Amino acid sequence: MTHTVLTALALVLAAPAAAQTVPAQVEQLRDSALHDEHAWDITEGLTTEVGQRLAGTEAEARARAWAVAKLKAMGFANVRVESFDMPVWTRGAESAEIVAPFPQKLVVAALGNSASTSPEGITGQVVGFETLADLVAAPDAAVRGKIVFVSHAMPRTQDGSGYGYFGGPRRQGPGIASKKGAIAIVIRSIGTDHHRNPHTGVMSFPEGVKPIPAGALTLPDAEQLQRILKRGRPVTMRLTLVSQTGHGQSGNVIAEVPGRDPSLPPVLAEVLAGTPEPFIQVIFDLEVDRTTAGRACLIGDAAFTARPHIAVGTAKAAEDAWTLAAALDVASGCEVVEALGAWSRQQIALGTAAVARSREAGTRLQNGTWSVGEPLPYGLYRLGDSSLADE
Ligand SMILES: Cc1cc2nc3c(=O)[nH]c(=O)nc-3n(C[C@H](O)[C@H](O)[C@H](O)COP(=O)(O)OP(=O)(O)OC[C@H]3O[C@@H](n4cnc5c(N)ncnc54)[C@H](O)[C@@H]3O)c2cc1C
Repeated sequence: MTHTVLTALALVLAAPAAAQTVPAQVEQLRDSALHDEHAWDITEGLTTEVGQRLAGTEAEARARAWAVAKLKAMGFANVRVESFDMPVWTRGAESAEIVAPFPQKLVVAALGNSASTSPEGITGQVVGFETLADLVAAPDAAVRGKIVFVSHAMPRTQDGSGYGYFGGPRRQGPGIASKKGAIAIVIRSIGTDHHRNPHTGVMSFPEGVKPIPAGALTLPDAEQLQRILKRGRPVTMRLTLVSQTGHGQSGNVIAEVPGRDPSLPPVLAEVLAGTPEPFIQVIFDLEVDRTTAGRACLIGDAAFTARPHIAVGTAKAAEDAWTLAAALDVASGCEVVEALGAWSRQQIALGTAAVARSREAGTRLQNGTWSVGEPLPYGLYRLGDSSLADE
């Protein structure tokens, strides 16, 4: 019994090791992805040749044109832009400075959808909170008329998971501060890069909440502000975040790798896949019950059209013309109408038979009941009689 359990345990323990064997194809994919610089080239090209491209702006329109050209050059099919209107927010002049007690400049960027200050900015006393929860818990009186500052302790993790968890100050902070009567809010950038490039991002105010200016300080600047606040003296900040809101046009850039309809015959699927802009032309059978009216007559496809499953359309058109000429050759004067009548009955029989065989062939082709090696049903009267013989 013990032996059985130990054996089972050994098998279970061995399983992960076996699962770690990487198939050669996967290894090849992984290695080529690690050496392939295509993704980098796309990112580098877009950011160098277009640059900043806020949604709905003229720069974003240039980015779309860039992407369309790039995707076409890469061989994608049906590359196109799907346009739509959207609210557009654009940033303008941005600055922050401590006015007192230790005058100095801070580096700030407006959060997307921030309200605008006047070009001269606003000046107010800073009230600091280490977490969003602290801001939520603060009495309105502690916040009203002030510039809120929210810090946080986002850790650096390999998978970047802190970004979502510590994003609250950016996403909800401005709305909460506004509801409590703050005149503006600045947050410590949501990120862990310790340089003086502020990390911004979009936020929105809940329905009915008055938008206020909202910005993100770089990590070194946020830490500087924390140190200043720790001195315990009133801290005054001048904040300028000029922005504009309006409407503009944006668009999705769409490119396709066309798939294949498994119900299509392989040859047709291949032709479709290789056609950049396929179009559909419906082809249908046509049958008539008369091909003459007085001295007028119909020949070829105008009289009968059989879908091309039996490849007799041209032979029938020629046969119609030959037999018509022969019928007229024997007729003279008033016998023409009668001659046409006799010819017509013959051609209706031929056309009806051709359409019937074509239908049967089409049905068998579509429901896959054609056997390999079975002769194709080509022929106007008999199999093979309308095909050109090999020399
Ligand atoms: C996809 C496909 C594959 C086919 N494969 C085969 C095959 O392998 N073998 C085979 O034998 N047959 C095949 N056919 C059938 C064959 O093409 C036709 O049966 C044949 O061309 C009919 O000849 P027609 O002279 O009667 O008509 P058409 O070839 O259609 O000629 C009619 C002409 O009249 C012109 N026209 C129309 N209206 C007017 C007007 N008001 N004024 C002036 N001119 C006008 C048209 O532009 C056209 O040039 C195929 C057909 C299709 C659609």
